[in-house]
Amino acid sequence: MHEWALAEAILNSAKQIAEKEKLKQVTEITIMVGELQQVEPGILRFALQQMKTDLFKNTKFHILKAKSTLKCRVCGTTWQFDLKKLDSATAEAIHFVPEVAHSYIKCPKCGSPDFEIASGRGVWLENIEGAKYA
Ligand SMILES: [Zn+2]
Repeated sequence: MHEWALAEAILNSAKQIAEKEKLKQVTEITIMVGELQQVEPGILRFALQQMKTDLFKNTKFHILKAKSTLKCRVCGTTWQFDLKKLDSATAEAIHFVPEVAHSYIKCPKCGSPDFEIASGRGVWLENIEGAKYA
């Protein structure tokens, strides 16, 4: 299960940051998930709750979707990709198989389907809040 491995990685890096900042407890963590990343926020949240250690016992986990940015390989135009503007069947297909995006999305300037995903894949920690007392 992909979400469980992800939860473990998130907790590990949050722990390292907390140690560096000398935080005794972590109160809030904001996690950004790229729109084109195949992550189910509900499962991720569940995995975080199951795997968390004492350091995170009062932590609020915010899981937010990050917009994708695409870059045309032909003319270099970058644009923001909005999953919501596509019809829902297409959006679902792209969500589960990001590679499918190439058959639906074209550069708004030159019409080329040859683009790369500049951002919007991957998962990262956007913010950590904590307290220096236990
Ligand atoms: Zn282009």
